[in-house]
Amino acid sequence: MKAAVLEDKKVMTYKDVPTPEPGPGHVRLKIKAISICGSDIKRYVDGHRMYPLVLGHENSGVVDRVGDGVSQDYMGKHAAIIPLVPCFECEECKRGYYSACHSYSFIGSRQPGGFAEFVDLPEKNIFILPDDLSFEHAALIEPSTVARHMLALGDFKRGQTAIVLGAGSIGLMIVQWLRILGADRIIVTDVLEDNLAIASKVGARVMLNPSKVDVAKEVQKLVGDGVDLALEATGVPQVLEQSVSLTRPHGKIVLAGNQPLDKTLPLTFIENMMRREISLIGCFMSYSAPFPGREWAETLAALLAGTLDMDAMISHRFPLSKAPEVFEEIAAHQLAHQKIILKPEEVI
Ligand SMILES: [Zn+2]
Ligand SMILES: [Zn+2]
Repeated sequence: MKAAVLEDKKVMTYKDVPTPEPGPGHVRLKIKAISICGSDIKRYVDGHRMYPLVLGHENSGVVDRVGDGVSQDYMGKHAAIIPLVPCFECEECKRGYYSACHSYSFIGSRQPGGFAEFVDLPEKNIFILPDDLSFEHAALIEPSTVARHMLALGDFKRGQTAIVLGAGSIGLMIVQWLRILGADRIIVTDVLEDNLAIASKVGARVMLNPSKVDVAKEVQKLVGDGVDLALEATGVPQVLEQSVSLTRPHGKIVLAGNQPLDKTLPLTFIENMMRREISLIGCFMSYSAPFPGREWAETLAALLAGTLDMDAMISHRFPLSKAPEVFEEIAAHQLAHQKIILKPEEVI
């Protein structure tokens, strides 16, 4: 089969690799749509722990082969990939905290992923979908579950005010979930006007560009002491620091942006956080018990109800064979984008 293989830092080739055969308890998904994740880009730009690797974990396709012990009923079913492969046996898995598993694998990072014509997966890692759901929309289920998980961690309640820091793909998904779940105010910040325009399209009511306005002042005008819930999706240290002053006493901040590991922040923001008794909450992936969790079921329900606008999230479509060029352009900052969909040749 053909796959886009990461061979080294910033080296990706589109080439022939062996087609996987599903072993016992596994299924094979014939890939129909692939969405590029920010983490795929990070692995390409910064390098990864292992090579060669087929990246990609935001995928949809059709089950085309099943291994021993797996029901034939799966054949021909449409499905999305559930990328986390937990052990289901350790202390944290038993508590239902699968993303804290002591010995997990992850499709597209620790084992071959979906930038390929076929992917081999444990049976538990296919998320079965109705046949009439678009493959492109289905490829965007996983990033939506992350956003939904952030709101669950922040204990978001209807009628609360919220600010989304960063209108990249996760930020835009958060905006959509805030709209669906009935936020009172949805404020979004981003330095790119294009991102703010899409945020407005998917449900944000106030768009603030920090390069043009004083975000803290604007937020104060709108909601006084701050929002009930701040969602950090930029991974920029100064934005994390500022999120505390944008959040009201006893409010919550949920962090999903990966911060640069070689940077530091002055601890004054912890002092502010303590004085306001604000909760700072980490988010990693999107899972809850029973696996993969209600985030996944709710995303599917919202897709079927038509409340999640996935089309607004997609900026580009390319054949999978173009993946090396696409990544090269992204790394060189020559391709401003939202979600990019790749498709294996024959289904285009
Ligand atoms: Zn992702
Ligand atoms: Zn485990």
